[in-house]
Amino acid sequence: MEKELQENFAGEKILVIGAGISGTAAALTAKKMGAEVVLSDSKTEDKITDDLTPLKEAGVELLLGPQTEEQLEGVTRVIASPAVPCRVPLIQAAYSKKIHVESEVELAYHLAASPLYAITGTNGKTTTVTLTGDLFAAKYGKDKTGVGGNIGTPLVDEALRIGADGALVAEISSYQLEATDDFHPRISAILNVTPDHLLRHGTMDVYQATKEKIFAQQTAEEGDFVVLNFDDELTKNSIARAKEKGINVCPFSTVDRLSAEKYAAVLKDDVLTIRDDGKEVQLVKTDELNIKGRHNVENALAAAAIAYFGGVDTEMIKKVLREFMPVEHRIEPVRELDGVRYYNDSKATNTDSTVKALESFTEPILLIAGGDDKMTDLTDFMQLVKAKCSKLVLVGAAAERFKSEALKGGIVQSDILEAGYDMAKAVELCRSEAKPGDVVLLSPACASFDMFTGFEHRGKVFKELVNALK
Ligand code: ADP
Repeated sequence: MEKELQENFAGEKILVIGAGISGTAAALTAKKMGAEVVLSDSKTEDKITDDLTPLKEAGVELLLGPQTEEQLEGVTRVIASPAVPCRVPLIQAAYSKKIHVESEVELAYHLAASPLYAITGTNGKTTTVTLTGDLFAAKYGKDKTGVGGNIGTPLVDEALRIGADGALVAEISSYQLEATDDFHPRISAILNVTPDHLLRHGTMDVYQATKEKIFAQQTAEEGDFVVLNFDDELTKNSIARAKEKGINVCPFSTVDRLSAEKYAAVLKDDVLTIRDDGKEVQLVKTDELNIKGRHNVENALAAAAIAYFGGVDTEMIKKVLREFMPVEHRIEPVRELDGVRYYNDSKATNTDSTVKALESFTEPILLIAGGDDKMTDLTDFMQLVKAKCSKLVLVGAAAERFKSEALKGGIVQSDILEAGYDMAKAVELCRSEAKPGDVVLLSPACASFDMFTGFEHRGKVFKELVNALK
């Protein structure tokens, strides 16, 4: 299908599969544009938690409960929600009837009049997308810069809000990429590919191939770029495949290398530096960034490369990089009290994320960890905790296993403090044990559902408690 601004879908019958946030947005948009819209969800109405009222009011026909092939009767296009894998029988049936299947982000791409900048990766998407959005907003203004996709706001809504002459920045998950075939960003990026979502994708090869769909339609003729992480084992291998397709590739690395590449983003003498066809453009030093840790230097390099090759002025890029603050719950500074700095990293719901946070500090850390246990191996994790932390404060359901693994790892009993299911107690213990110069870090390495409604709730409670300390 040609990229065209489809002002109306009159005469089309569109079947949206899945009544989540993006499915609802897609259905309402298609309806506004004149299509007959049917929404199918395998859950019955009493099991659906999303609000169906706007759909009903807009006249979208709801088909709830068991899905049958008859639902495809007369359908000209299917829009699949990210939660619905392409292997479900209804989508397979659509494919065999040669009905065009797309995801909501592909619909957004078709409707967008501004260029699309799309970012995927196992980790770091939200931080990088938010920063990239700020970089383009410096050029086009907030009214003309859209930020959406997996980050929460449906991309179709943002695509229509900003109109032409701006930038549409999209956070794209592998789930959203599955049902795409002509999705074509002006610049795309893969931040990293590490084991995750294997229940959905089956193997790492399939997972990586799904991620690579982000650049599948890009071409050199249109001046497209793909930004790829050279420091990441798997993403590095995507570079050759992108080059084979003739796309402009900008690899990035936190090591000063890639000098043979036409385009690159690297850390050189601790300065974030863009290489642009023989020219070196220096941006900012790492200590000018407010986002901490090497992983965030990677995120900043990727965002800066997208903005630079997307035409944002260098001085603007520098200013935004200096001003950008961590996204909430991601090594977010909360407060300094009596020389002790408090950080909220509630988003760290697995050990990998907590490792990233611990590696971001040189000061002694009082770590608050625990919660809903993901039962991953803690051997290496406890070695890092032992090296970096003066105290380990445990909360929630995982406390017992974390304690015994900590003891096995050689952490002494007196450095392990237990707060039960009480975050207030955890904060108080840190307050009384911390010395000036120390860091108190909530980075649980666990999900939050044993005590909270989600990581956002956990982080907010922690911040309230810290801000209430006298
Ligand atoms: P996502 O939206 O992909 O989950 P976030 O920006 O919310 O990404 O970061 C999630 C967690 O992933 C952070 O808490 C951090 O520990 C880790 N992280 C962030 N950026 C990176 C990166 N570039 N590489 C590896 N891990 C990262």
